[in-house]
Amino acid sequence: MKKTIAFDADDTLWHNESIFHETTHTFMDLVSHYVSASELEERLYAVERRNLALFGYGIKGFMLSMIETVIELSEGKATGTEIQQVIDLGKYMLTHPINVLEDVEETVSALKDDYRLMVITKGDLLDQESKIARSGLADYFELIEIVSEKDEKTYTEVLKRNKIDINQFLMVGNSLKSDILPICTLGGKAVHIPYHLNWELDKVEKSYDFNEQHYATLSSVALLPLFLEEIDF
Ligand SMILES: [Mg+2]
Repeated sequence: MKKTIAFDADDTLWHNESIFHETTHTFMDLVSHYVSASELEERLYAVERRNLALFGYGIKGFMLSMIETVIELSEGKATGTEIQQVIDLGKYMLTHPINVLEDVEETVSALKDDYRLMVITKGDLLDQESKIARSGLADYFELIEIVSEKDEKTYTEVLKRNKIDINQFLMVGNSLKSDILPICTLGGKAVHIPYHLNWELDKVEKSYDFNEQHYATLSSVALLPLFLEEIDF
């Protein structure tokens, strides 16, 4: 039985946060007559945080939070046209082209024969499915799991459902909170690849010791095959 390598999707396989940043800035311009940019950002984050448990992660929840923010900021005076502009921003995000991160396709292509490759991502089911399809990467992955939260409980269920032994499993992702630490707590292996627009030179940045349940940090996904060889996974 092949070992399983699971990849997070957003900001691990393709750019995502950059689209949220871009949209937030357009939104700021849109509502700049109500509030300063810095205050807006704070208000938007507060609304998002408040709504997270109800809306979950994803663009549609973000869109609703932008609408709620503009209604609050305008003290209920926002126009239908303004609300429509916010909805259009969300629609733009939902159809935004998927920009696969550098070296991702080469890496998954190099790994797919030796490992069972998997995607574990959280967010709106339809949107995540659509992104996987549009990314052109779907064929590299045998298993795709779209979940609403990435915590120890979810990972335990995902592993159980797919009959994966945690000792035969390695998770790769950009988020310490969602991709790395829950897996480490469960006793699994994890590789952190931080998302950054200007990645540093390719190098292993942090020492690792899987016996101590530490995770490794790589500066680029391109280093993953060599790293797997080094740790004999
Ligand atoms: Mg991510």
